[in-house]
Amino acid sequence: MRLLLVEDDLDLAKGLVLALSSQGFAVNHVSLGQHALSSIKARDCDAVILDLGLPDMDGLDVLKQSRQKDTHLPVLVLTARDGVDDRIRGLDLGADDYLVKPFAMPELFARLRVIERRMGTAATHLIKLQQVELDTSAHLARVDGETVNLSRREYMLLKELMESAGRIKTREQLEASLYAWGEEVASNALEVHISNLRKKLPKDFIKTLRGVGYSVSATPASV
Ligand code: CA
Repeated sequence: MRLLLVEDDLDLAKGLVLALSSQGFAVNHVSLGQHALSSIKARDCDAVILDLGLPDMDGLDVLKQSRQKDTHLPVLVLTARDGVDDRIRGLDLGADDYLVKPFAMPELFARLRVIERRMGTAATHLIKLQQVELDTSAHLARVDGETVNLSRREYMLLKELMESAGRIKTREQLEASLYAWGEEVASNALEVHISNLRKKLPKDFIKTLRGVGYSVSATPASV
């Protein structure tokens, strides 16, 4: 996988390039947002590791503009900032995941493996995670091989979460996916649907990230 590393802290960048190369990634490093955008425009990377604090522009603007050029390019955001606002804004703008500095290298590798796996499985209509299987052509879910009875909204939420396994979906994104299907969404509707959905799924299958959103672990089906 060809990675574009956008990071203006040169010491950190040097360390990251070494570590990522040792893991078999081809890494192209740039320090400026404008250079990142040219590289993305030229489509010479498969995924982006993007620092938010850049000297020439806000990393979130790089993210926004890169989404206009290529909506499928995976972006992992690096942030040194406190608070959840930037992370939520990043996720809302289409970041796949984020890491807060300082982070451990194995954590970064793990996130990149999730992205790699997702890129490899995006074309199939069957998603299997732990004991849960989602069939997006038949619009149904199975737990341990048994079909579970889901309402339309529950199915839609589960699909959103499982298609983005390993990354966080914010409340706004999940609500937007319900709206997109012409559903009226009351203020606490999301919690109610998630709670109902949880009763039909294995314990802890859907994780809550308090104040941020929900996620499903990217652990594949056990053999
Ligand atoms: Ca920086």
